[in-house]
Amino acid sequence: MIADTWIRAAVARLNDVERPRAEARLLLAHAMRVPSEHLFSHPEIEIPNEFVIIAEDFLRRRANGEPLSRILGYREFWSLVFAIGQEVLDPRPDTEILVEAGLDAIAGLQTPYILDLGTGSGCILLALLSERKSALGLGLDRSKGACKNALLNSQRLGLSNRAQFVCGDWAEAFSNIGNGFPGFDLVVSNPPYVGTVNGPRPDKATEQFDPPSALYAGPDGLDAYGELALQIPALLAPGGVVVIEIGEGQSAAVTKLFEQAGFIRQRELNDIGNRVRCLTFKLA
Ligand code: GLN
Repeated sequence: MIADTWIRAAVARLNDVERPRAEARLLLAHAMRVPSEHLFSHPEIEIPNEFVIIAEDFLRRRANGEPLSRILGYREFWSLVFAIGQEVLDPRPDTEILVEAGLDAIAGLQTPYILDLGTGSGCILLALLSERKSALGLGLDRSKGACKNALLNSQRLGLSNRAQFVCGDWAEAFSNIGNGFPGFDLVVSNPPYVGTVNGPRPDKATEQFDPPSALYAGPDGLDAYGELALQIPALLAPGGVVVIEIGEGQSAAVTKLFEQAGFIRQRELNDIGNRVRCLTFKLA
């Protein structure tokens, strides 16, 4: 079959997609393992049958509502390309606000040391390290697959000499940290915050295709914040800053949890849709 013929037929099946032609071309290029520009400049190219079969499978998944990034296995975040496996949350453009807030928090420091709790693909930490060449970072995740995924991204982005990844549950991973540990200058986190009963609801694609362990945090979605608020103080350097993502409507409740643990709220930042998405704290 000719590439252009396949793409035309695919467009007709991608009814709910904003840029069906571009996506159809990307899916076919991914199946053929060629850059999509190649199909753009050679629409008349003949597709070997084995690639048609693979492309048909990608198309069926996309028409079924699976995000393009999941099918392609990568997502752009902070203008960097991140591999995303099944075990990590698909990075969202809204989360880039945490990178902005984090950069602001470490602006005056020579060699900032950054901790990313629940690092997933590593996107927040690695975006920060890509901007601040003298910074060092540690990413923690309880999922082994996520740690591997983040490590792979650090290698692909040429940041593995400044990033380390550790597998473990929040505080447990640091239980044998020595007394002499100077602490992290910045702790960032996009923890799970979807409630199983109340609180922010994920959209259908999120619920279906993102790993549940990266989404759900108790009945009202606040469980992870409660744990983080209690555990971060022992990990912070003097003057250190916490930058966290929150879900819609969680600002007051999360602020309260952190205030109870001795923090003072510094900033409240909005996402692309103008909802409060990020809070920053310092210890009182
Ligand atoms: N941002 C995800 C959503 O759109 C939730 C991710 C999370 O819980 N951290 O629902």
